Amino acid sequence: MAALSVPQATVQSLNPATGELLGEFPCADRAQVQAAVAAARQAQPAWAGRTVAQRVAVLDRFRMELMAVRQEVAELITRECGKPLTESLVTELMVTLDTVSYFARNAANLLRPERVPHGNLVGKSKASHLHFEPLGVVGIISPWNYPWSTPATEVIPALVAGNGVVLKPSEFTTLCAMKLKEVFDRAGLPAGLLQVLPGDGATGAALCTSGVDKIVFTGSVATGKRVAAVAAERLMPVLLELGGKDPFVVLEDADLEVAASGALWAGLMNCGQTCISAERFYVHKRLVKPFLETLVAKCRQLKLGNGLDPDVEIGPMIRERQVRLVEEQVADAVAHGATVLTGGKRSSLGPLFYEPTVITGVTHAMRIMREETFGPVLPVIEFAEDDDAVRLANDSEFGLAASVWTRNRARGRKVAARLEAGTVMINDALSYYGQCEAPHGGVKSSGLGRSHGRFGLQEMVRIKYVDEDLLGGRPKPWWFGYDRTQLKNFDSFLRMSFGGVAGKLAGLSGAVKSLMHKKV
Ligand code: NAD
Repeated sequence: MAALSVPQATVQSLNPATGELLGEFPCADRAQVQAAVAAARQAQPAWAGRTVAQRVAVLDRFRMELMAVRQEVAELITRECGKPLTESLVTELMVTLDTVSYFARNAANLLRPERVPHGNLVGKSKASHLHFEPLGVVGIISPWNYPWSTPATEVIPALVAGNGVVLKPSEFTTLCAMKLKEVFDRAGLPAGLLQVLPGDGATGAALCTSGVDKIVFTGSVATGKRVAAVAAERLMPVLLELGGKDPFVVLEDADLEVAASGALWAGLMNCGQTCISAERFYVHKRLVKPFLETLVAKCRQLKLGNGLDPDVEIGPMIRERQVRLVEEQVADAVAHGATVLTGGKRSSLGPLFYEPTVITGVTHAMRIMREETFGPVLPVIEFAEDDDAVRLANDSEFGLAASVWTRNRARGRKVAARLEAGTVMINDALSYYGQCEAPHGGVKSSGLGRSHGRFGLQEMVRIKYVDEDLLGGRPKPWWFGYDRTQLKNFDSFLRMSFGGVAGKLAGLSGAVKSLMHKKV
C-alpha cells in the first residue's frame, strides 16, 4: 500500500496594496534544508580558493546585472511588500549597489593578512599575523520589510569573504529573494554556492540546526531570542539584528521646519515598518506646539496609495496582523488618556492602509511608547531639559538607533554621547543605513554584533592568529627551568619593561640575565 503523503505547507507572496496572489511556494522541509547546506558546503572550498580579486570580479558583474534590471526589481519589491517605488530604488537597490561597490574597492585590503606588531620585548622575536578565513557556510535569515537590501548586504560580505550562503527569506517576500539569486546566477556565481530556501519559521528553525557555521539573523526580538538559544546549545556564532524603538530628540534650538520634515520621514518611511524608524518623539516644550502643528499639516499632505504610482509616498502595511498591532497600541494609548491629532484609523483605500498618525498625551506607561509599533504612528512627548530628554530616550529595552536635532553641533554631540544606541545621527535619521561604511546594529535588546562595512565583513570570517618565531627554534626564556635566580631575573624584567625610570635602570641587568637563563 502506498504511504500517505503529508501535504507540504506553503508560503504565499501577496501584493499588500491589492491582495493579489503573486506566488505560492512549498516550504523547504528539514531534508531540503540539509541538502541545500550540503550543496553550499560542496561549492565553498573552490570559491574560498579563488583570490579576493576573482571573487570581486563576480560582484562587479552582479552590480552590472542588477543595474540592467533595476526597474524590474524595484517594481517587484514594491509589488511584494508595498513600499513606494522611490523607496525600492533608493533604500533597496542603491544600498545594495553601494555595498557591492564598497566591497569591490575594499575587500582585498580588509581581508589581507595583517601584521601584528608587539609592544612587549618578549614578542619582538616574532612575526605575527592575523588571517581572515571564511567560516564555511553562513545561514542568513531575513525579514520582509527590506526584502532586497537586508539579505543582499549580508550575502555580499559573506560571499566576498569566501563563504557559501543559505538564505531563508521572509515567508512574505520569497519572490524578491529568488530574484536576488537569479541576478547572482547571471553574474556567474558558482552553482550551489548561494541557496535560497522558501519557507516559514519552521524552515528558519531547521536552518539553525542544520550545521551551518554561523547564523546571521534579522527579525524580531522574540524570534532572535529563540535563534540565540539554539545557537547557544551548539556554541554556534550568531549575529542578531533585531527590533528597535528609536528616539527622535528635538532640542530647544532645533530648526523646527527641518525637524518636523525629518520626523515625518523618519517615522513614516516604508509606512513605519523599518527597524530604525523613529518611534518615540521627544520635543522641547518651547517648540512642541508649533512642531505638532507643522507635523500634523505635513502628515495630511502625504499621498497614500499603491506604491507603483510614482507620486505615492505611503503604501500599505504588509499584513493584517501588523495593522491590528498598530490599532491595539493606538487604542491602548487613547484608553489611557492620549489624544490622536490626525490619523488613528485605516484608510478607505484598502484593508492594509493605515493613515499616518500623530498622537500626544502619551506616557512611558503606554504600550505605544514601550513596544515596537512598526507602523505609521508618531507619538510625541515634551521635555524641559536636555537631561530629561536623555533619560526618556534611554528608558527603553531597545537601543538600535537614535537621532538628535539641534542647530548646535557640539550640543548634539554631547547628547549623542549619552544615548544608549548602536548609532546616533545628528540632524538626520535612518540614512546611515544607506552609507555602506557605517556599521549597523544595536545595543540592549536590539541585537548583538554589526552588519555593513568592515565590521560586517569581520562577522563573516574566522580570525586566525599565526605566530612565527624568528629566532630559529631556540628555547624560550619562559620555558621550564624555574628557580630562585630566574624568578628574580623575571622580576627585574618586569621592572625594566613596565616600571618607572629608576626601575627600568635597576632592572636592566637582571632582565638581560632572565633572557639568557638556561632552560631544561
Ligand atoms: P520575525 O522575527 O517574525 O521573522 C524574521 C525571520 O525569522 C523570518 O524569515 C521568519 O520566517 C524567521 N523565523 C521565524 N521563526 C523562526 C525560528 N523559530 N527560527 C528561525 N527563524 C525563524 O520578524 P519579521 O516580522 O519578519 O520582521 C520584523 C522585525 O524585524 C521587526 O522587529 C524589525 O525591527 C526587525 N528588523 C530588524 C532589522 C535590523 O537590522 N535590526 C532590520 C529589519 C527588520
